[in-house]
Amino acid sequence: MKRSDLQQNARQYINGRWETGVTTGVSENPSDTREVVAEYARADRSQTELAIRAAVDAFAHWSQSTPQRRADVLDRIGSEILARCDALGALLAREEGKTLAEAIGEATRAGQIFKFFAGEALRGGGEILASVRPGVQVDVTREPVGVVGLITPWNFPLAIPAWKIAPALAHGNSVVFKPAELVPACGWALAEIISRAGLPAGTFNLVMGSGREVGQTIADSPLVDAISFTGSVATGERILQAAAARRAKVQLEMGGKNPLVVLADADLDRAVDCALQGAYFSTGQRCTASSRLIVEAPVHDAFVVRLRHRLAALKVGHALERGIDIGPVVDRRQLEQNQAWLAIANDEGAEHVHGGELLERPTPGHYMNPALFLARPEHRVAREEIFGPIACVLRADDYAHALALANDTPFGLCAGICTSSLAQATHFKRHARVGMTMVNLPTAGVDYHVPFGGRRASSYGPREQGRHAAEFYTTVKTGYVLA
Ligand code: ADP
Repeated sequence: MKRSDLQQNARQYINGRWETGVTTGVSENPSDTREVVAEYARADRSQTELAIRAAVDAFAHWSQSTPQRRADVLDRIGSEILARCDALGALLAREEGKTLAEAIGEATRAGQIFKFFAGEALRGGGEILASVRPGVQVDVTREPVGVVGLITPWNFPLAIPAWKIAPALAHGNSVVFKPAELVPACGWALAEIISRAGLPAGTFNLVMGSGREVGQTIADSPLVDAISFTGSVATGERILQAAAARRAKVQLEMGGKNPLVVLADADLDRAVDCALQGAYFSTGQRCTASSRLIVEAPVHDAFVVRLRHRLAALKVGHALERGIDIGPVVDRRQLEQNQAWLAIANDEGAEHVHGGELLERPTPGHYMNPALFLARPEHRVAREEIFGPIACVLRADDYAHALALANDTPFGLCAGICTSSLAQATHFKRHARVGMTMVNLPTAGVDYHVPFGGRRASSYGPREQGRHAAEFYTTVKTGYVLA
């Protein structure tokens, strides 16, 4: 295997020190599997417990720090990420496989998130209320929760850790951060910047390793007060059980099967653009991907023709190559899973419209042509999350049918509609059973200063991001004083 110039010797960061692991692992470049991106230290249960213990000890100190100190630390982290977003983006593109432009955008977003939460550290406040009893004053304040365990996925390896770590620290918590195994270099790069920002030792800890050992140790530890997780439904369920058993606070962001409704009165070019971006960019590896395109009958055929035309023009290739629209699938396992989904779609009678085949490129990588099917609502391909560049179109008789189809899913993360009717857009926003709605926009692509999250099988617990992040990262205290 080729050792690349940016290859890291990525170690654990525990109690303010860089530590070797119990074993080592490697991450590879999905655009060129000959290239090792990182060699990294893998923790076991006892090393993870050391990190948790360090976070417990640090909490007493950091939770009492001034808002100014927290703001300064977060601002420094944000500034450095922004100053280095090109290099961080290149590392991300190499390790995860999204295009360089998308990866630099994500690194920039991570920096902006730290900057936002630098402000949030200063904006924390409470309420003072008159009591129902004479002479008594009541105040409601927020305090940090304690030690928070942050378990993150591979698909946004800078932005998702940022939107968990930044509010955790801003609100005075200490952190044990466990990145996904496919992206240790991104987790390490973020931790390295955080390690130099002036936090007391033990306030922020990085532990890399397997979900089953490191992740499960965090989920099971009685010393971890709150767990924020983004990943698969199956792992989320497991973490929920572990957290509930010991009454820990828990926040889960899991799957999606997000509908994009296209009505007959929509600007069709814009609708096709929304579908293309939402379903296929970032190789479809987003929980907000528009994997169900629900199109009203009068424009169904024209929509499919135009989308197929745009799909045929997409360039799939090495994530660092100029002019590429879509990078490789993240790893072999995910690629095989995508190929299995194509077989399922064909077997259950979905009509194949475009793509799906494996692609040869000058470098050996996990390349596949984005795929499109015409499906029926009962098809698995139209009901289950795929997490790859595969989408399906469902035909709707009218708006009411489209809305019913949009809500016909156990998930509830994001729903979009393309229409020129204010009345129908407003009705859809009100009646889509999701946490986020989009009008004339792709379902993927969100702001960082407003809540992110969904309902039902997609999410559990308080929302992430923006001001609302305080609900998870703080606990409320009510004080009574007789003056
Ligand atoms: P994916 O299938 O997309 O990798 P996972 O839910 O398995 O999604 O992974 C998301 C994160 O959860 C990763 O950091 C992973 O290591 C971690 N994880 C996996 N299994 C467990 C587990 N049993 N307990 C805690 N964390 C886990």
